[in-house]
Amino acid sequence: MKKVIIIRYGELWLKGKNRGYFEKMFETNIKRAIKGIECDFIKQCGRYLIENFSEYDADELISRLKKVFGMHTMSLAYETDADMQSIFQTAKAVCKEEGTFKVESHRGDKRYPKTSVEISRELGGMLLSAFPKLKVNVHDPDFTVRVDIRENGKALVFGEFIQGANGMPVGTAGKGVLLLSGGIDSPVAGYMMAKRGMRVECLHFHSYPYTNEQAKEKVVDLAKILSEYTCGTTLYTVSVTHIQEAIHEHCKAELMITLLRRFMYRIAERHALRRSAQCLITGESLGQVASQTIEGITSSNSVVDRLPVLRPLIGFDKNEIIDLSVKMGAYETSILPFEDCCTVFLPDFPAIRPKLSEILAEESKLNVEELINQAFESLEKIEI
Ligand code: ATP
Ligand code: MG
Repeated sequence: MKKVIIIRYGELWLKGKNRGYFEKMFETNIKRAIKGIECDFIKQCGRYLIENFSEYDADELISRLKKVFGMHTMSLAYETDADMQSIFQTAKAVCKEEGTFKVESHRGDKRYPKTSVEISRELGGMLLSAFPKLKVNVHDPDFTVRVDIRENGKALVFGEFIQGANGMPVGTAGKGVLLLSGGIDSPVAGYMMAKRGMRVECLHFHSYPYTNEQAKEKVVDLAKILSEYTCGTTLYTVSVTHIQEAIHEHCKAELMITLLRRFMYRIAERHALRRSAQCLITGESLGQVASQTIEGITSSNSVVDRLPVLRPLIGFDKNEIIDLSVKMGAYETSILPFEDCCTVFLPDFPAIRPKLSEILAEESKLNVEELINQAFESLEKIEI
């Protein structure tokens, strides 16, 4: 039996005048996701169909489509001729042999000789005779058999709705630069912004040679996992080794993280402006660690004045973030034990509520501009 994937979109329906634009982006993103698998992608009556694919590719197609934001639900359907006998034969493959069920029908082709209520009633009767242990329950059935009469003289028969990723199509909400560490939080932050339609580019700070090749590979892997949701991404890396060394040499140890953060944010903002991005994105969550107290966040935020810093995880508990990390498939990679730069030169007691006056006093011992320019000399671009 021929299989077809039905794709239904979600929130983008609501976008009145912009709908055409959202749909175009959604289509582009789907085509990108299914690239390399032989199949046809067609638009039909407010939904999309994927057909003419090999049986063996069905699972792969669905797992890729699950990562496309803007999709509400999908179904794997069987296509058959639209006469009741053919529909019945196909429905037997979708129907369970016992339990309660109902039939739901929909006519895309309004010229079809039966109404949807008639189709449901007739098919329900045929299934009841075929499976004597079945019962009808239209209010709370164990499962539903669905029939969709298409315009081309065919019918689609299916059972389940497969949950899509929801959200908005990536590319409809500007571009942000994600500060991507090797940890759990920042990939999730990128995922959350992509879910709202934002394109995401990544920026990673490393402390080579204090951090090793494996740490870098880990970040590349995380960017790859993220890119399946962000419709591709680019990873930029910048070395902050010389900055950590300068802070280590000239400033109070307990301010290492605070001062380094401020450098990272400054570099990130400049980089984002050069890349025509409209915001920075971080994985910060209030109170999670010393640098993420409101004072810590204020201190790093105060060096960024031309772009907003979005922190989609600010109100999340760690275990909620972990759940999302598992869901997006990043967790196993995030917990690999390779250090990113922040753990090098880590003080025993970082300042929890650093005072701005003290930070500025320590920072004045450094040549901030020169250190930043030097950092940009190490900028590398990795296409993911
Ligand atoms: P994560 O799990 O994302 O590493 P975290 O809980 O370890 O976060 P911090 O180390 O305080 O928290 O980092 C807070 C945020 O700062 C990160 O979510 C990330 O956006 C950014 N960040 C931290 N280290 C780096 C880095 N080496 N390169 C790029 N961004 C970084
Ligand atoms: Mg971290």
